[in-house]
Amino acid sequence: MKPLAFSKSGKFWRGNLHTHSNCSDGLLSPDDLCQRYKDEGYNFLVISDHFVGLYNYPITEPLDFNDPEFITILGAELHSGSTENGEIWHILAVGLPKDFLPTNSPNFVPTDNQETGPEIAKRCVEAGAFVTIAHPQWSGLTLADARSIKAAHAVEVYNHGCAVSTDRPDGFHTLDLLLAEGRKLNLVATDDAHFTDPDYFLGIMPPYIGWHLELVYLSGFFEVILGLGLLSKYRRYSAIGLILLLIAVFPANIYLIVSEEAQMSLNITKQTAIIRAPFQLLFIGLAYWHSKP
Ligand SMILES: [Zn+2]
Ligand SMILES: [Zn+2]
Repeated sequence: MKPLAFSKSGKFWRGNLHTHSNCSDGLLSPDDLCQRYKDEGYNFLVISDHFVGLYNYPITEPLDFNDPEFITILGAELHSGSTENGEIWHILAVGLPKDFLPTNSPNFVPTDNQETGPEIAKRCVEAGAFVTIAHPQWSGLTLADARSIKAAHAVEVYNHGCAVSTDRPDGFHTLDLLLAEGRKLNLVATDDAHFTDPDYFLGIMPPYIGWHLELVYLSGFFEVILGLGLLSKYRRYSAIGLILLLIAVFPANIYLIVSEEAQMSLNITKQTAIIRAPFQLLFIGLAYWHSKP
């Protein structure tokens, strides 16, 4: 199924305006992030680390990954001033200058003597940035909060990190209310990836293999078919097929042992990963036993 919006003529660019590296609370280095997104066919990426003192106010600049099909844009997620519920603002700014002046935000707690949300959003726009009100549902923004960011260009209507971690991804309600008041705003959907939340099997695919999702489904499909085949008169061929399948997916087990990131995505330790691997050999042995006429 092709989404209706992308069936129109014209050139569509695939990109993500909101992601975190290990320069703030993300897992991957800026360079690893760029490589991951590039490998997945993205055309642009903004590494928007948390612009707070805790992380030395990072405006993260990866190595030069730019080519005719891929660019990185400087940006940050800014935190300053309190929303109506007493939490600190999350404001996404894309296209910030590298020397953007730090605010007074030691951490994620609103303090006195710091810019308000509307003030820091305005300063970002004056510096040339494209400003988005981040994850309204996750933040619990009120309409008054959203109204106050007069400088915003956009509202984040979907945030995948908020979907995975707290089931609070939405921003359409906030956007609709502002549009109804005559504000002209863009829709932005982001993944806000930190690479720390579990995304299960996608997370254990070795990065050098493409077609991750398709391969996960395909191996699952064959597992079921061949498993059922063991009960049929094609038992022998099904068992041989299972042996080949277990060998084919073995690299994922090796990757699980060597990659901390993959272990985190399945929420298991390295020890568990090591213990798991020999079981694959046991399964191969069992399948071999079934393959005998
Ligand atoms: Zn945020
Ligand atoms: Zn974020």
